[in-house]
Amino acid sequence: MSSDTLLAFDYPQQDSAGLTCTAQAWAKTPPHLEGTDKAAVIARIKQLLLEKDVALVAHYYVDGDIQDLALETGGMVADSLEMARFGKSHPAKNLIVAGVRFMGETAKILSPEKRVFMPDLDATCSLDLGCDASDFAKFRAAHPDRVVVVYANTSAAVKAQADWMVTSSCALAIVHQLNLAGKKILWAPDRHLGRYIQEQTGADMLLWNGACIVHDEFKAVELDLLMAQYPNAMVLVHPESPQAVVDLADVVGSTSAMIKAVVEGSATEYIVATDKGILHRMQQLAPHKKLIEAPTAGNSATCKSCAHCPWMAMNGLQGILDCLENASGEIFVDEPIRVAALSCIERMLDFTKNHPDLLAKAQHGFVKNIGAA
Ligand code: SF4
Repeated sequence: MSSDTLLAFDYPQQDSAGLTCTAQAWAKTPPHLEGTDKAAVIARIKQLLLEKDVALVAHYYVDGDIQDLALETGGMVADSLEMARFGKSHPAKNLIVAGVRFMGETAKILSPEKRVFMPDLDATCSLDLGCDASDFAKFRAAHPDRVVVVYANTSAAVKAQADWMVTSSCALAIVHQLNLAGKKILWAPDRHLGRYIQEQTGADMLLWNGACIVHDEFKAVELDLLMAQYPNAMVLVHPESPQAVVDLADVVGSTSAMIKAVVEGSATEYIVATDKGILHRMQQLAPHKKLIEAPTAGNSATCKSCAHCPWMAMNGLQGILDCLENASGEIFVDEPIRVAALSCIERMLDFTKNHPDLLAKAQHGFVKNIGAA
């Protein structure tokens, strides 16, 4: 398929840059703990996780202390796909999900019998904010001939309208299979990931015009300069980044794929274009490798974003303790929405369980210049 057949949905709530509207979005910073205060809170959390039968599941982008705590207490640090799998299969009666709201909702949809808590219920995502469920319903209704594939970074109410949910770990493999079956795709909400998958698979995809405010900030011109400074570094780029940045990558992949590339790669230096929260786990797993943050702005810019998601940063130790002591931050999903959203998530989990070969090939397919499996 030629690029001119790639269509983009003209979402009415766009800002002047053409992005879906996050003008009203805000975030807050959790209390910063240090020294004996921090040690006391961590000790209390560990005790209560055990006493109250709670598993802590954390995303790679949250604070390193929380990632360490999850691993030390038998929980998990992972990407969205593994978080969903882990939460569903773990025998604990309760979950604390340290990440952003759609991750807590997904855990609740999959495990309605468990109580699911989040350190801060206001932690959201620009992709979720930029894809309103009622607007999405109109988009869908206008294209009834298309299979609806939504990224995990959407509300339960949007997932309730989808045929498939995908994460960046499995999106390529699933769209590839749908394309082989002759299906036309309606994709939401990330336009960069959608464009990348369309390019890799040749699928007929109609794209919602959303973007991640973190990955959208990576700059190709500055990355080029950094690559000249580190000519032997391997460049890892998350596919939520703009095309010009993806085009410079040696490996394009999900957070898990990027970590794997560092751990297994022969290079000693890596430039990493994703939320910098990932560097904590990456460095733990590959302590002798040099990790370099990809640039989000250049010398000429008047301001510089920090490559760190403001909503992931809302997860703090005190918030976790509040979940455990006061049952604060509990996630609820209306039952009709939960039931409607469940099938697209289970379809993805079944696919990834039943087609590990396709998933592995698609992960290789994310390697630039090799193409989709
Ligand atoms: S990093 Fe981007 S995609 Fe991830 S939660 Fe934050 S805004 Fe959403």
